[in-house]
Amino acid sequence: MFDNLSDRLEGAFKTFTGDNKITEINVATSLKEIRRALVAADVNYKIAKEFTDKVKEKALGSKNVLKAVKPGQMMVKIVQDELTELMGGQSVGINVKGAPAVVLIAGLQGSGKTTFTGKLALHLKEKRKMKVLVTACDVYRPAAIDQLTVLSEQVGAGIYKEPENKNPVEIALNAIAHAQDNKYDVVIVDTAGRLSVDEAMMQEIADVRDAISPNETLFVVDSMTGQDAVNTAKVFNDRLNFDGVVLTKLDGDTRGGAALSVKYTVDKPIKFVSTGEKMEQLDVFHPDRMSQRILGMGDIISFVERAQDQFDEDEAKRLEKRIKKNKFDFNDFLGQLNQLKKMGDIKSLLNMIPGMKKAMGDIEIDNSAFSRVEAIIQSMTPTERAQPELMSMSRKKRIARGCGQTIDDVNRFIKQFDQMRKMMHKMSNNPAMMGMGGGGG
Ligand code: GDP
Repeated sequence: MFDNLSDRLEGAFKTFTGDNKITEINVATSLKEIRRALVAADVNYKIAKEFTDKVKEKALGSKNVLKAVKPGQMMVKIVQDELTELMGGQSVGINVKGAPAVVLIAGLQGSGKTTFTGKLALHLKEKRKMKVLVTACDVYRPAAIDQLTVLSEQVGAGIYKEPENKNPVEIALNAIAHAQDNKYDVVIVDTAGRLSVDEAMMQEIADVRDAISPNETLFVVDSMTGQDAVNTAKVFNDRLNFDGVVLTKLDGDTRGGAALSVKYTVDKPIKFVSTGEKMEQLDVFHPDRMSQRILGMGDIISFVERAQDQFDEDEAKRLEKRIKKNKFDFNDFLGQLNQLKKMGDIKSLLNMIPGMKKAMGDIEIDNSAFSRVEAIIQSMTPTERAQPELMSMSRKKRIARGCGQTIDDVNRFIKQFDQMRKMMHKMSNNPAMMGMGGGGG
């Protein structure tokens, strides 16, 4: 995410290397680079210019202040604060008060509306303990209704649909009545999108909005489309006066322009960011964390939050017992792998850890390592999975054939697994090393 921007900004701060003072000259050089970096990230020139003007004012204003802080560090801090401001300053939550609360989802086709509807349903169910109903008001594409049906089942939300009805206003009103009758806490109304903005679409969604008076209207936009995303946001906002923005596909090769300029352009907060196709890959947007990430400082808070979401305390206790008894097997390992996978793809996770991006340099990390290990375990018989000590050469050969990998691959994995198992067992019986079990402190 935003790799290029991060690299270029880092380059801009290098201007100060070796300088002990903030001066008009080093500030000017650095600002020019920062402005270029922003424009290259698809931020509109006017916004970039205004941004660097503010940074300049603060930088020169701080010339004589903090002697203990190096100019480069000072500049990073100023830029971080300004990036946070540009993206909205504070995190703004979603308003879901009501009986039921109603959330309307708007955006172009393909922006990720339906996927987000599923993700939001899961989020409200898990984080706010709400009973969620989703409804598909797309009267043009039957496939859109099917897609939402699948997602609703996946996340455990109710769905209201009327495939024969061609009137989106009626469907939305009926869905809300259905939610009232069945004691749902919130209804999320997914709407039809078009490939580009057109009057008929705008009229249709404005009609739905006027009829149902939602608590929240969220505008979903594909962040990969850069300045186009911002322009589309403007058109939708002029017509709908929406409450917040959802940026999708931030996991892709996004330059960052949309995230950096949408708040400035429509003066509405970004409320959520979506970083993948999986239902769990949704984050509440925090401008300060995002600016830290852009500046390569990682986002350890979001990382820990994701980990906590996936962390199951009972499961952890069960594993601890198994490790102590040296019973940790391939099934347990696979379970752990799946928990890790739920947190997102490995590269985006690593990028959340401060300094990790730099430390990794050009080393390419992908999720295929996961899949390879998974394939090996899946080629084992249930007995082999439960009793790793049974592993023999002939078994390994069969496993290698089964998963289409070389015997070396299988050997290497099983050896690593054995080492890990031994290590964990050793540590589990030595509370001082593990920080768990008796004693404490
Ligand atoms: P809609 O037409 O606006 O309802 O868009 P969809 O929800 O059908 O999404 C369009 C495509 O984008 C689908 O293939 C989704 O899986 C994909 N998609 C949605 N959100 C994300 C995201 O955050 N990251 C990635 N990589 N793909 C996404």
